[in-house]
Amino acid sequence: MFDTLSDKLESVFKKLRGQGVMTEDNVKEALREVRLALLEADVNFKVVKDFIERVREKAVGTLVLQSLSPGQQVVKIVHDELVALMGGGEDNSLDLAAKPPVSIMMVGLQGAGKTTSCGKLAKLLKSQRRKPLLVPADIYRPAAIEQLKILGRQLSIEVFDSQADQKPVDICSKALKYAQLSGFDTVIFDTAGRHQIDDYLMDELVQIREAAEPREILFVADAMTGQEAVNVAAGFDERLGITGVVLTKLDGDAKGGAALSIKAVTGKPVKFVGLGEKLDALEVFHADRLVSRILG
Ligand code: GDP
Repeated sequence: MFDTLSDKLESVFKKLRGQGVMTEDNVKEALREVRLALLEADVNFKVVKDFIERVREKAVGTLVLQSLSPGQQVVKIVHDELVALMGGGEDNSLDLAAKPPVSIMMVGLQGAGKTTSCGKLAKLLKSQRRKPLLVPADIYRPAAIEQLKILGRQLSIEVFDSQADQKPVDICSKALKYAQLSGFDTVIFDTAGRHQIDDYLMDELVQIREAAEPREILFVADAMTGQEAVNVAAGFDERLGITGVVLTKLDGDAKGGAALSIKAVTGKPVKFVGLGEKLDALEVFHADRLVSRILG
């Protein structure tokens, strides 16, 4: 992932670093190449436009200062602005500091990696000495409940015994009561996905939100779907008010546009990234580390 973007930016940076004297035209030319590289990586058009404008202003500012290595300065500005674009420096940790049990609701389109991410997140929380309960609330995809039960068995984490003939909102209310009575401190709700946003799904999610009273509503986004993931995230946020994003399949060969745009478009931070199908392949997201990976 990010290979093409990395290569392109590296060649721009190489030219920049070699430049002893720089003019506004040099900056413009370099930023034109950065802009193209970002667009080719499928970064949202408006995000790219604003980003380049911010970098340009700062870069031209450094020219006025006549520093010794202007090219290097511009490289640093691009680096820092990329980190800022992805929410670097902000607190991206889960907000679980409430009276237990604390609810986390996972939402997103079918196939994005919701169920897998529920398992991964439960495992991560268990390793932090929390006691999570997994709740399957997807009654539409026949295998979804069983899939989560299998994950739970692999992880030795309890899965609420949801039945496919129950209403999802009833499952969630019952599961929350069960968690209260049984001493679980965290409840992770795996909700149904669709191939696209539809009113029925959204209404159901709003009802579940009322019943589950989540501290976190995490939108699970498939990085491979690029701009589509960003648009759908914005749609879910508008209807449901998400608190963060789990960006899955970053181990694949997606161009990276989703990772670079989703925070800027939705205003909601990426909190975790999925880096494989295995249950330990979930990491807390660090914008600076991702940028270091992109920029080499
Ligand atoms: P759901 O429909 O949103 O619940 O999606 P699933 O959790 O069933 O995942 C769909 C597919 O994506 C499965 O084959 C998962 O193994 C795979 N998957 C989920 N997360 C990742 C990830 O981070 N990397 C890769 N390579 N595959 C993933």
